[in-house]
Amino acid sequence: MKRARRKQANSARGGRRRLGKLVIFGVGLIGGSFALALKKRRAVARVVGVGRSRANLLAARRLGIIDEIATDPALAVKDADLVLLAVPLGQTAAVLAQIAPHLAPRTVVTDAGSTKRDVIAHARKYLGAGFARFVPAHPIAGTEKSGARAAFAGLFDGHPLIVTPEPETDARAVRRVSAVWKLAGMRVITMRAADHDRVFALVSHLPHVLAFALVDRLAGYADAATLFRHTGGGFRDSTRIAGSSPEMWRDVCLANRDALLAVLDDYVEELELLRGMIEASDGQGLEARFAAARAARAKWLVKK
Ligand code: NAD
Repeated sequence: MKRARRKQANSARGGRRRLGKLVIFGVGLIGGSFALALKKRRAVARVVGVGRSRANLLAARRLGIIDEIATDPALAVKDADLVLLAVPLGQTAAVLAQIAPHLAPRTVVTDAGSTKRDVIAHARKYLGAGFARFVPAHPIAGTEKSGARAAFAGLFDGHPLIVTPEPETDARAVRRVSAVWKLAGMRVITMRAADHDRVFALVSHLPHVLAFALVDRLAGYADAATLFRHTGGGFRDSTRIAGSSPEMWRDVCLANRDALLAVLDDYVEELELLRGMIEASDGQGLEARFAAARAARAKWLVKK
């Protein structure tokens, strides 16, 4: 009878097993939203949060995002079914080094980092044999807000999760992590880590650098206050993501340095091309360039 009921409950959750103990390092926008999404679907029994800011962890517990606060990472990961690293990328190595000796053989570790090659290199270095049960992943969902208070259960709904397993990665661990993220609302795509880092340098990391640069430049003019007063929807829309966490984006830039430098060079070339056309009063050239961009954007939006 009990078994029948359990089977029924599992099938209501898409036939997937409920998680027992989930440990989240970094209960911010991503870690917190992951916990809320799983709790909403009753897909996890217990969520333990580990963090750097006590105030943030207290807020997370008060908001029902986590059930417990752990202060000792070694004790926290004991008996964990799944460990999620949702810390700024610059913290990944330190967290892995702290937990590596204390991970049980059944514990699966995954991450949410915006870059993959550097995270994989750290995991390979620190986890040893446990590297096979490390599933590198990147949820393609977010906002410019950070911290537990910014977390919400619907953040991942309908968005892709990219997993970048290595040849050593245990297929069962990949299935387990994929199943849990599916329960959190995501659809899963597999990519090679190097491809991931190039793609996201282009479609995410570069736009963030540009948004920060636009605001930075404007703020640097002596009459910045007047300039900001005259900004409209265009400036606001193009710079929304400059409201993102400086620490997170510092770490993304450094972690994806090579791929980002390559796409920055291409972008500078594009700016120089446009600059040349403006200097030469080449209206035809500019219009053709802008028309091509507008058409590409319209095609992209139709496909979405
Ligand atoms: P966030 O700032 O909202 O949360 C990060 C949390 O990690 C903070 O609460 C911070 O106190 C905590 N933290 C920092 N160092 C720690 C440490 N050593 N141990 C434990 N906790 C620590 O950031 P976020 O937006 O949730 O991003 C988390 C990760 O997810 C980053 O790696 C980021 O690259 C990735 N990511 C972010 C987005 C996004 O849009 N924000 C999207 C996809 C992936």
